[in-house]
Amino acid sequence: ATSLQSLKHSTLLHFWGHHSFRPLQSEAIDSLLEGSDTTVLLPTGAGKSLCYQLPALLLEGTALVVSPLIALMRDQVQQLRSMGIEAELLVSSMEDHEMETVLGLCREGVTKLLFVAPERLSSRKFRTQMEDIPISFIAVDEAHCISEWGQDFRPNYRHIKTFREQVKPVPIIALTATATPSVLFEIKERLGLSKPRSFSQSFRRENLSLFFEQTLEPFERVYQLLSGARQSALVYCRTRKQTELLTQMLLNKGLGNVDYYHAGLSSGLRTKKQKQWLESPAKILVATNAFGMGIDKQDLHTVIHLSPPQSIENYYQEVGRAGRDGKPSFAFLLYSQPALTTMDSLLERSIASRVEFYKITSLLYSLCQIADGERPERTYYMPTEKIERLSGCHPQKIRGVVEFLHNQELLFLKDYPGPSTLQIH
Ligand code: ADP
Ligand code: MG
Repeated sequence: ATSLQSLKHSTLLHFWGHHSFRPLQSEAIDSLLEGSDTTVLLPTGAGKSLCYQLPALLLEGTALVVSPLIALMRDQVQQLRSMGIEAELLVSSMEDHEMETVLGLCREGVTKLLFVAPERLSSRKFRTQMEDIPISFIAVDEAHCISEWGQDFRPNYRHIKTFREQVKPVPIIALTATATPSVLFEIKERLGLSKPRSFSQSFRRENLSLFFEQTLEPFERVYQLLSGARQSALVYCRTRKQTELLTQMLLNKGLGNVDYYHAGLSSGLRTKKQKQWLESPAKILVATNAFGMGIDKQDLHTVIHLSPPQSIENYYQEVGRAGRDGKPSFAFLLYSQPALTTMDSLLERSIASRVEFYKITSLLYSLCQIADGERPERTYYMPTEKIERLSGCHPQKIRGVVEFLHNQELLFLKDYPGPSTLQIH
């Protein structure tokens, strides 16, 4: 046992250059190494990837990694290779001979991690190809995609269960930052996990302060918040048009290094913009919520929402991208009564979004009351029941995120120390 522990540590140091594990990484790794089905529920940025990447190196065979987005998989493969780890990607756009090369490397035990899109697991051809390839385990990243509750739902995740049952009876490790009990329950059910060992941690982010402010001039406010900042920022807008207008305005006012991103751009351009943002220090990106899944930018310490996000879960994910390096970080949510009213009438026509809308507005209204009214204790407590009642939502669904907000220190802009502090560290 001690030799295994020292092997884990030397592998961590050798490939990743880290001297110690973060909370629960070591425990989750042990669970997988012992062959147990494992769930890992840790906040964004906590270091979930390591929980499957390191065991993949220590076990014989290839670990199969299922992930929802090809762009995300490409980044990960590239990152792993740059660390000297043999990782490959199988995508449908590859030529037959390219696939054969990859499968050959797996067969020889060279490839330690093989990234695949979930739909591949249902392919008859792929299943046959897998028969003579030793698979160590299956890692399901962003495992909440199996839940129909969220906007990230990927119907193809259902193939993972049958793939394991019919092709490879190996352990599964499922990882997500969504820790609501109902989503966890669905993950266990739909992946067919057997007596999984679960590792989860409080969602409180010590280094992240959330600010809320009512403003009728959100563009101007964004400019004020960002001028002088010497670190990267992410600004979320509701519409594509807004991202372009705001970017133009910030550039006109003399902020350099600003770019926009939305799903209306060609995929080539999106990849280019994402890469540029990730690689330049102190760059501002103005985006719709099409941007961000799996993003890890170390100098991102500011996230601004120009208007209320689509759901509390979105909000949680989006602000969670700030401060992954543990340094002080700030999230600002700007809102106005007219903006809320416009949202209301827009969403009136869409029943599905309405529930989400009520969740976020009820949250916001509670916050506004506090912001505009009496100064509360520094830690804000929001009664879960109230949100449940207002939203008409299944209580379990929002609990994890609400827990995050409960535990988070919520501040109001009069406490904001100003952009100068964004330059300090
Ligand atoms: P998650 O998938 O949970 O959002 P990632 O796996 O992308 O998080 O990791 C977030 C960041 O934490 C990465 O930059 C990673 O290098 C870093 N990290 C992970 N584990 C450790 C560790 N044990 N020590 C130091 N940094 C770590
Ligand atoms: Mg991740």
